[in-house]
Amino acid sequence: MAADDVNATNRGSKRIAIIGAGPGGLCMGKRLLDEGYDDFVILERGDGVGGTWNFNRYPGCECDIPSALYSFSFAVKPDWSKPYGTQPEILAYMQDLGERFGLMNHCRFGATVTSVVWDESVADWTLTLADGATVTADIVVSAIGMFNGLAWPSIDGLDEFAGTTFHSGHWNWDHDLIGRSVAVIGSAASAVQFVPEIVEVAGQVHLFQRTANWVMPKPDTEYTDEQLDAFRADPSLILAFRTEIESNINKGMTFAFPEVLATYEAAGRAAIDVVADPETRRKLLPDHPFGCKRPLTSNRYYPAFNRPNLELVTEPIARITPQGVITADRAERAVDTIILATGYTASRYLSALDVVGRDGVHITDAWHDGAEAYLGITTAGFPNLFMLYGPNTNNGSILTMIEYQVEHVLAHLQRLIDEDISWVDVKPDAMRGFNHEIQEAIAGVVVWQAGCNGYYRSPSGRIVTQWPYSMTEFQRRTAVIDPAAYEVG
Ligand SMILES: Cc1cc2nc3c(=O)[nH]c(=O)nc-3n(C[C@H](O)[C@H](O)[C@H](O)COP(=O)(O)OP(=O)(O)OC[C@H]3O[C@@H](n4cnc5c(N)ncnc54)[C@H](O)[C@@H]3O)c2cc1C
Repeated sequence: MAADDVNATNRGSKRIAIIGAGPGGLCMGKRLLDEGYDDFVILERGDGVGGTWNFNRYPGCECDIPSALYSFSFAVKPDWSKPYGTQPEILAYMQDLGERFGLMNHCRFGATVTSVVWDESVADWTLTLADGATVTADIVVSAIGMFNGLAWPSIDGLDEFAGTTFHSGHWNWDHDLIGRSVAVIGSAASAVQFVPEIVEVAGQVHLFQRTANWVMPKPDTEYTDEQLDAFRADPSLILAFRTEIESNINKGMTFAFPEVLATYEAAGRAAIDVVADPETRRKLLPDHPFGCKRPLTSNRYYPAFNRPNLELVTEPIARITPQGVITADRAERAVDTIILATGYTASRYLSALDVVGRDGVHITDAWHDGAEAYLGITTAGFPNLFMLYGPNTNNGSILTMIEYQVEHVLAHLQRLIDEDISWVDVKPDAMRGFNHEIQEAIAGVVVWQAGCNGYYRSPSGRIVTQWPYSMTEFQRRTAVIDPAAYEVG
């Protein structure tokens, strides 16, 4: 198929390809339009905008950061139905952004990018899609997110199960759970949200837990009509709430204050106390410190264990038979449905695609020790390639972090135009120095060294997902470009 050039008609004639129409892609597109760039395409493999919130539709799916902050500063919404917005509400918010800011015409859905290849001779990128079509662009902004590959467990017999199996990240709404006998494998973020929902309809649920997690209570009472009217009438109320949340998260996200951690842990223990059965309570109590893994929130998870139809199983799974699940103690539980709540392949970043940079280097080789970037946004040897929600940027409200990253990308674009530069590439030394410092800071976060934070680490063991400082610190560091850190051509 012929190459499909993005029209070169607008400001500075920079052709921009954004991969992904989740919050990152939408924010980038909106800010590009604000700044007068309209020569861009958003390539999205899914059927609509919203990213995480378009794909994750399991019952009970909702935000664990208050929505007043898990929303963009340029589109503050005064009337979330409750402090922590639900997936349908967040998806509707994202769809509204797409429509309201004129981004839908820039989106191409069902467009899965499989490879991204730099052409040194003309200083541009060629993106190839799964259907063989190509797009060329001067600038690529990757907004593919962190949670896009579903992690499937390798359990003997899983393929031979005769009932229905699905992953929580791809919920099977055609499969009615009423009266079913269900095995849920995994007890982290998704399970904590959907288990209290499915126990209401299923006959029996067996929850197979490998690691107990801290599940914190949250203030999440639905807003009254009077409160919503007040928020709508006076936007300063929601803005003040936003500032308060940001300040609280900034304090907590570094996990640096033992007294704060102790308070959280005490609240977590108190929440478990609602479980009546002492043995179940004991099994639900984490053996790692609060903060070692991403803290979870739910007011409904622990109370669900007081229902007669929810069993917590901590014996390891030995294998799956066509009829059920056998644990290491040889007990077999007959089930007709298996729901895998086993998370995502989170640490791959752009190496999930075939990305080829300068001198024909593949990103998988450049990142043989795990994903690595400068400020989480650029990576050496891959010019004019910018990542949103890239390596070591996970912490706090991701939407807030994305806004800072988008401003940084815009500053690079401005520089390319102002200084008539074709490409910009972070210097290996600058990237190495930055990562050395970040890894030292990560080593200083005591709770992250307690050996339980699976998805934070690359296969080599390096923590490649986490940002160890506050969101404000990220904003400060990304606010200006240090020209000495980049090679240009
Ligand atoms: C269940 C769940 C709950 C979460 N809750 C919170 C929360 O409460 N607070 C918080 O801060 N964060 C939360 N997160 C993290 C969440 O992913 C981010 O907040 C946010 O969605 C990141 O936006 P994004 O655009 O970078 O990535 P995503 O939302 O993941 O969007 C990426 C998009 O890129 C597309 N894409 C990927 N690969 C390709 C390709 N090869 N070609 C074309 N398109 C591609 C995907 O289809 C997707 O639409 C949660 C994540 C999950 C999974």
